[in-house]
Amino acid sequence: MRTIIEPFKIKSVEPIYFNTREERETILSNAFYNPFLIKANDVLIDLLTDSGTSAMSSNQWAGIMKGDESYAGSPSFFRFEKVIKEITGYPIAIPTHQGRAAEKILFSILGGAGKYFISNTLFDTTRANIEFSGAAGIDLPCEEGKHPSIPAPFKGNMDVATLKRTIAEIGVANIPMVIMTVTNNSGGGQPVSMQNIKEVSAVCKENNIPFFIDACRFAENCYFIKLREAGYANIPVPQIAAELFSYADGCTMSAKKDAFANIGGFLAMKDLELANSCRNLLIITEGFTTYGGLAGRDLEAIAIGLQEVMDENYLQYRIRSIEYLTHKLIAAGVPVMQPAGGHAVYLDAKAFLPHIPVHQYPGQALACALYTEGGIRSVEIGSLMFGKYDNNNQLVPAALELVRLAIPRRAYTQSHIDYVAEVITEVFEKRNHIGGLEIIEETPLLRHFTAKLKPVK
Ligand SMILES: *Cc1c(COP(=O)(O)O)cnc(C)c1O
Repeated sequence: MRTIIEPFKIKSVEPIYFNTREERETILSNAFYNPFLIKANDVLIDLLTDSGTSAMSSNQWAGIMKGDESYAGSPSFFRFEKVIKEITGYPIAIPTHQGRAAEKILFSILGGAGKYFISNTLFDTTRANIEFSGAAGIDLPCEEGKHPSIPAPFKGNMDVATLKRTIAEIGVANIPMVIMTVTNNSGGGQPVSMQNIKEVSAVCKENNIPFFIDACRFAENCYFIKLREAGYANIPVPQIAAELFSYADGCTMSAKKDAFANIGGFLAMKDLELANSCRNLLIITEGFTTYGGLAGRDLEAIAIGLQEVMDENYLQYRIRSIEYLTHKLIAAGVPVMQPAGGHAVYLDAKAFLPHIPVHQYPGQALACALYTEGGIRSVEIGSLMFGKYDNNNQLVPAALELVRLAIPRRAYTQSHIDYVAEVITEVFEKRNHIGGLEIIEETPLLRHFTAKLKPVK
C-alpha cells in the first residue's frame, strides 16, 4: 500500500519557536510542572488538545468573510441549522459558544441533587457540569475499555448489562438522561459500535429515559464503524452518521473538534419543550437563539467544517495518522493504548513509569518529561484530572493513568509526527530517571487546569 498523504496543500503557515532543553527546564519549573501553565510559544509541538486547534480550510476562511452579523435571523444561522438538521435529523439546533456551554444549559435543566447521568465515559467538562448542578455522573465503560494494552475494535462501548442493572438500582425517576460519548475521549479516543448505540438506545426507550450523544467526534467514530463493523464497509459516512444520530433524542457538540472550527458548539434535539427551556437559558447566558455565543462568521465556519469532516479521504488520513504514531511507539516497546484511537495517542503512564506511585501522578510526570526532552506538550488523563479525595483526605485514584497526545486536525505533517515518536522513545529509554510530583495548590473542580505541582524530593 502506498503512503496515505495529507489530503491538503498548505496555503498559510505559522512559525514554531525553538528552545533548548535548559530553557525548557526553567519554563516547566516556572509553570509549576503543569503544561497548561506553559506559554504556547514555548512549545514546539503542541499536542495538548485537538480542541479548537484545527487548521481551517480555504472554504471555511471564505465562509468567515461571508458571515452575516445580524443580531437576529442571520442567514449564517440558517445555513448552520440546515447542515446540523441534515447530518443529525434533529429538527432543532441551538448554537453555543462551545461544547461545555451546551452542557451547562442541558444539565442546569435536567440535573440537580439526587439525579444520576449514565454514560460510557463522561468527558471532564461534562462530568463537571453534571456535578455542578448537584447531580452525579456514572461511567459504565465496557470491560475491554478498562484494559489499555488489549486491542479490541470498539473499546468505547458502554456496558449494556451493567446499564440495565444500574437503572434498576437507581430507578428511572432519578436518571434524567443517558449520554454516549463518541468517540470515547477520556476512555482512550476509542469508538463506539453502532450495535452498542442501538442496544443502549433500546434500553433507554424501554425505560423512557432520554438518550443523548456527545457528538464531538462523530465523524471519526462513524469512520471506525465503516472500517470495523460488519455491514458498513460500503455505506457513505454521512449515511452512517444519520443512522447513529437516529437512535438518540439529541446531542451536544463542541465544534472545536469534528467541525474544524476554532470556537463553537451546539445542542440539537427532537424535543420541542426541552428546546424551549434550553433557549430560555441560552438567552440569559449565551445570546439570542440565532447566534448563541457565536459570531455569524463562526456559524459559517462550523457549517462548512461539519460537511468537510465527513470526506472519507480526510477521515482515512486522519485515522491513519494516529495509527502511524501508535505503531511506531509499539515497535519501540512503549506502552500505549491499543488499538489507536481517533484523535489521540494515549501513553499508559502506569506501565511507562511503574516506579512512580499513583499519588505521585505518573501521568503528569511523563507529560513533563516529554516537554523537557522535546518541547512536546501533552496532557495527563489520570488521577490529576479525575482523582478525588475520600473522607480521610486520601487520594481515590482514577482507573487509568494516561498521557494523551491529541493531534490537531490538518495542522501537523508526518515529519512532525516522526519527531514526536523519536522524543517519546528517548524518554522511554531514560524512564528510570523520571521522578514523581506532588500538588502544592489546587481548585475543587477541574483542578488539572490550574494545579501547581513540584517534584517529590
Ligand atoms: C471537548 C469536549 C467537550 C467540551 O467541549 P468544549 O468545546 O471544550 O467546551 C465535551 N465532550 C467531549 C467528548 C469533548 O471532547
